[in-house]
Order: sequence, then structure tokens, then C-alpha cells
Amino acid sequence: MSRAFNFNAGPAALPEVVLLEAQKHLLNFNGTGMSVMELSHRSKDYEEVHNSAQSQLRKLLQIPDNYEILFVQGGASLQFSMVPMNLLSEDKTGYYVLTGAWSEKALKEAQKVGNTKILASTKEENYRSIPQLDLDLLQEDAAYLHITSNNTIYGTQWQSFPDLKVPLIADMSSDILSRPLDISKFGLIYAGAQKNLGPSGVTVVIVKKDLISEPLDHLPTMLNYQTFSKNNSLYNTPPTFAIYLLKLVLDWVENEGGLAALERKNIEKAKYLYDAIDESDGFFKGHASKESRSNMNVTFTLPTEDDTKNFLDAAKKQGFIGLNGHRSVGGCRASIYNAVPLEHVQRLAEFMKTYR
Ligand SMILES: *Cc1c(COP(=O)(O)O)cnc(C)c1O
Repeated sequence: MSRAFNFNAGPAALPEVVLLEAQKHLLNFNGTGMSVMELSHRSKDYEEVHNSAQSQLRKLLQIPDNYEILFVQGGASLQFSMVPMNLLSEDKTGYYVLTGAWSEKALKEAQKVGNTKILASTKEENYRSIPQLDLDLLQEDAAYLHITSNNTIYGTQWQSFPDLKVPLIADMSSDILSRPLDISKFGLIYAGAQKNLGPSGVTVVIVKKDLISEPLDHLPTMLNYQTFSKNNSLYNTPPTFAIYLLKLVLDWVENEGGLAALERKNIEKAKYLYDAIDESDGFFKGHASKESRSNMNVTFTLPTEDDTKNFLDAAKKQGFIGLNGHRSVGGCRASIYNAVPLEHVQRLAEFMKTYR
């Protein structure tokens, strides 16, 4: 059976070699006679997987020593709550930039925890772009500024990040590892794994140590970052198989040449689709404004809703999976994360031209 042309937004395509590697060792990992799923999370064999996932991530993203790497469950959605619970004290304000549905949700959870302010928003233009920031509006009381680096639903992406005096917090669920990153600009980064890192079930949190140095004993144990940092994310049973697949994906990224190489490939892939849009005489219309376009999620519509529906039907018949836009915006969306092969993207671009 051949592999699908998978443009799903998440869970999304995984590298074929990763799946084959996992398959090869599924019944007998490392001579244990067990699957990774069946190992004790306290065993040496598992611990090696766990620690090498962390060290691979540290190497690829060049994460400095004063940052912790945590493996948490509950998805990026739980981070919407954990960030303010851990970092937003009573006398402070959490600032948010609204660039789409996920940042709205992050704000909504923070509002349940403490004081919040919206620093900037592009909601009025249906989140077509990333706003300019007026950093003077970030006042003394700021605990942090929260952004969503890639807006999975609208197809926009921050092209650069501001230098701040307060911690910059980023939801990078849909573009982590898609390009090199200066970690030192951030106080905390989080990402659910199921777009660019692996399967669902594990969320990676990269956090500057000094931000989580206070005890915060009033917090539920499992909602306190310190529980994870003090116990190497092994306070309770971690999602061992998801972390194993994460490790395999990280090995794959290294084999691909690391983040600079992946960025080049991602730019090339995205260009095929944006060219198909831009050279269509308006037949395909991109949702994102050009300067904010995402290299991970390409969003577009056709002249009418009927046209869009017909295009999606025809694409499905050709074997293209997952091209429907998110239910909240409609239209079409091609998610072209790291693991989506160039050839699949080229085929889609060809199909778009032929269809037109
Ligand atoms: C997918 C996604 C989420 C939600 O992630 P869960 O792991 O399902 O909670 C949050 N933020 C962004 C940017 C996403 O793409």
C-alpha cells in the first residue's frame, strides 16, 4: 500500500523512516523482548530514550543550559492554563497578542487565572496578518507577553520575534523545529507534539530556569512546572511511546541536516503552493497577507463556496487528504509540516494548476 498525500493539520504526517524504525523494534526494543510501550518508565532502557529525546532537542534548537526541557501531557491546550498559573502573580498582568483562534483560547484561560491585557490583535481583519507591536504599551506590571508563532488555522506566521524586557512566551505547536530559533529571546516555549514533533500525547515545554524557581506550593502538583523540572519529567508515568517517537523524529531532523536545512526545504515547499496561488489570476485567493504567510499552513479559497467545495471533492478523488480549511474559517488549507515530502507538495501544486 502506498502512503497517502497527507496534508492534515494535526495530528499530521510523520516521516516514513520514523514509522518504519518504530515498526522494526515494536516487539523487541533494544533486546528487552518488549515494546517501548511495555517498559517500566523507571527502567534504564526507557530512561535512555527519555534523556536522549531531551539532549537531541537541546542540540537541534541550541537550547542554553539555563533552560529546562519538560515533557508534559494535556496538549498545548493545558499550557494555556499552566502558563498563567505558574507565571502570572496577583499583582501582575499577562499580555496577549491575538493572531487567531489558538491565541484567543490562550487568553481565555489566562482570564480565569488573573489580570490580562490584549497588546495587539488582528481579529478585525479576520486574522490575515501578524500585527505590528507597540512595545511601549507593555507596562511595568507585565508578567509576560504571550504570542502564537504560527497560526495553524489562518495560515499566518511570525517572521521575526521582538526583543523584550519581560519574558516572551510562545505557543509554537505548529512551527517548532521548522526553522532555527534564538531561544534566548524567549522565557517559555511550548508545543504539542502532533504537528512537527511526533504523535499526540506529549507536549514539549522549554522554559528559562529562573522563571520557575519559586515553589508555588498552592498549585496542584501536576500543574506546577517545578514538579516536572525537579523530577526530570518523571514524577508520574510520562507518555513513554510518544516520547520515543519524538526521539526518532529528532534523529530524523538531524539526519535531514538540522534546522537550517529544514527551513530551506520548508521555504521551497511553501513556494510551490504560494506560486500556484499567485499565478492563478485570482482563481485561488490566499487568506494570509503576503508578508505574514506561513510556511507550515497554506490557506486559500476559490471564487465561490461552490467552487471551493468542488475543488476539495476533486482533490479528495486524487488522493489528497486533509485539505479542508478549519471549520471556523472554511476554504482550503494545506498543512505542509516538516515531514510532508516535497514530492507531495509538488503534486498538489500541479493539481491546483490543472484544476484551474
Ligand atoms: C494544534 C494547536 C493547539 C492545540 O493543541 P492540543 O495539543 O490539541 O491542545 C494549540 N496551539 C496551536 C498553535 C496549535 O496549532
